[in-house]
Amino acid sequence: SPRIGVLALQGDVVDHVRALRALGAEATGVRRVAELAAVDALVVPGGESTTMIRLARVFDLLGPLRERIAEGLPVLGTCAGMIMLADRVEDAAPGQETLGGLHVTVRRNAFGRQVDSFEGPLDVAGLDSPVHAVFIRAPWVEAVDDDVEVLARVAHGPAVGRIVAVRQGPLMATSFHPEVGEDTRIHGLFLDLVRER
Ligand code: GLN
Repeated sequence: SPRIGVLALQGDVVDHVRALRALGAEATGVRRVAELAAVDALVVPGGESTTMIRLARVFDLLGPLRERIAEGLPVLGTCAGMIMLADRVEDAAPGQETLGGLHVTVRRNAFGRQVDSFEGPLDVAGLDSPVHAVFIRAPWVEAVDDDVEVLARVAHGPAVGRIVAVRQGPLMATSFHPEVGEDTRIHGLFLDLVRER
């Protein structure tokens, strides 16, 4: 079974490990270059993207992460992890960098104060029924390049039509937190993608 790393610098690591193991994958935290080198794919969890990118630099992982992404490492980025994968960020913190690789513009904390955090059913391409999507100070995808497939858009409310899940080759990203709760189908889609490669 594929070995999936979960970037364990900051954020919601444990629930991703649990979800991946529930699907029969080998899952471990990645904090060191040697651990990164040993995995077939990576999850970048939710948390706080400014802290995560700072710690990636502190742990000397920034260069190695960018290299592996450039070489085609499958990566699932969720919430802050989506921001980490994005090539372009609106409302970034001053000087905030990303890992990049995903040809999108994301807007940080996009949903605004009134709908800061919310949850609800969301249709996702490739799944035959909606997931229960949990958004916590989430980004949305403001714009995508031609090579990016849109997997989900908000269907109701003030953010209707906003893109909240995407795929581009081996890279997949969601605005919401698929690791919350018992539904492992988003991780399942990612494992399908990993096995395809
Ligand atoms: N607002 C956070 C950020 O900018 C993301 C929130 C989350 O991952 N739940 O990184």
